[in-house]
Amino acid sequence: MNAPDRSASKETGNLPAEEPVLHRVRRTVCPVCKTPVETRDVAGAPNFPCCSRRCKLIDLGKWLNGEYRIPQANKEEGEDE
Ligand SMILES: [Zn+2]
Repeated sequence: MNAPDRSASKETGNLPAEEPVLHRVRRTVCPVCKTPVETRDVAGAPNFPCCSRRCKLIDLGKWLNGEYRIPQANKEEGEDE
């Protein structure tokens, strides 16, 4: 003699909880000091992919010094001495 239980038989319609929009964590290593770098927001990490401003500057300096530059045929001869 079970009385029909309306509340129990009613599905609550459990929808799968929507996952919060997670920013994908970008993982990389600092090109200068090889420190693991994690950032969720590249736009908010001005030093990315470097770990710090200092490394960013060092990295920038390498570029300015031509360390990363593609070797060009310089016609200049070393006549500094
Ligand atoms: Zn670094």
